[in-house]
Amino acid sequence: MPQLPSFIQMYRDLVAIPSVSCLDPSWDTSNKEVIEKLAGWLESLGFQIDVHELDRQPGKYNLLAHYVPDGMTQGGLLLAGHTDTVPWDEGRWTHDPFKLREENGRLYGLGTADMKGFFAFVIEALRRIDLRTLKKPLYILATADEETTMAGARELDAFGHLKPDFAIIGEPTSMTPVIMHKGHLTESVRVTGKSGHSSNPAAGINAIEVMHDVITQLRSVQNDFRKRYQDDSFEVPYPTLNFGAIHGGDAANRICACCELHLDMRPLPGMNIDELYGVIDERLIEVKAKYPGAICLEHMHEPIPGYRCDPESEIVQLAQGLTGNPPEPANYCTEAPFVQALGCQTIIMGPGNIAQAHQPDEFIQIDEIAPAQSQLRDLIRSVCL
Ligand SMILES: [Zn+2]
Repeated sequence: MPQLPSFIQMYRDLVAIPSVSCLDPSWDTSNKEVIEKLAGWLESLGFQIDVHELDRQPGKYNLLAHYVPDGMTQGGLLLAGHTDTVPWDEGRWTHDPFKLREENGRLYGLGTADMKGFFAFVIEALRRIDLRTLKKPLYILATADEETTMAGARELDAFGHLKPDFAIIGEPTSMTPVIMHKGHLTESVRVTGKSGHSSNPAAGINAIEVMHDVITQLRSVQNDFRKRYQDDSFEVPYPTLNFGAIHGGDAANRICACCELHLDMRPLPGMNIDELYGVIDERLIEVKAKYPGAICLEHMHEPIPGYRCDPESEIVQLAQGLTGNPPEPANYCTEAPFVQALGCQTIIMGPGNIAQAHQPDEFIQIDEIAPAQSQLRDLIRSVCL
């Protein structure tokens, strides 16, 4: 059994192992080494370890460490996090992003806040808990590819019958229980027209003009969303549709043959995603009929649904009681809807601040460490002892 390193050494080790996930293959890295590191530490604490290589992403891995007291098969607590980080901005970090650095009361490094460091917190919290004294199961879940496709969180079935009572996803929320966020859909609309000389518009089908009609319809969807749906828990209380990128044509004197638009939509929790797609399809019926076969809609990734946990639920009450922080919504997406689908009360709560996530010189405040460690330890004790 390997000896468990100090908290700071675990932090240093986790930051030192690159585990970037990125849709650009030149950045993308396997998370295998992080998983192996965690497996060794968690095994030395007495956990059983299951590792699953993703079907969707061979070379990427999920890990489930479990300690299930005799006679129990389900319930207990799941502590979850992702092992991957975003890429780093070359030239904008003042130091090596993979070298943990202490300065100004902060620990700097890629993944210090979002969120490899969370695993060091969990293991540190467990250092002083004898697993054999647990009365409820305890699970640690480490996923892959959260920052891109959430492929890891989509394959939790691979661990068989996993049904904790409660789950905490340790994204950096400054130990505030986050209990809801919107979903995220990324779509592309491609218009294929017909090129021709610009002197005769009738000689072709102008993809930019067709796209203009498409956008007019989608603008009315934006208004519809605003009128039809309302959830005042969010600062922006309706689902959004954003036009993010558009490319079309190559020369002023040609009829544009191809135009592509990328958009994102953020549905409210509880919204039926298929219904939302239905609204768009319906709105495009006319323009599609006018230009048969010219308009093609595609999902750029599998949808991430919205998520909400009842503020009155036990886990929210417990987390609020231990941290003193009332629950909040978030404006970013997490793996919460997938973890919640296991059938457990799920919140997002971890050390570090989301403002530092995905930023050069990412850090965690050193004076946050001790309180977060003891809050996590108390949480584990409250649920499992
Ligand atoms: Zn994260």
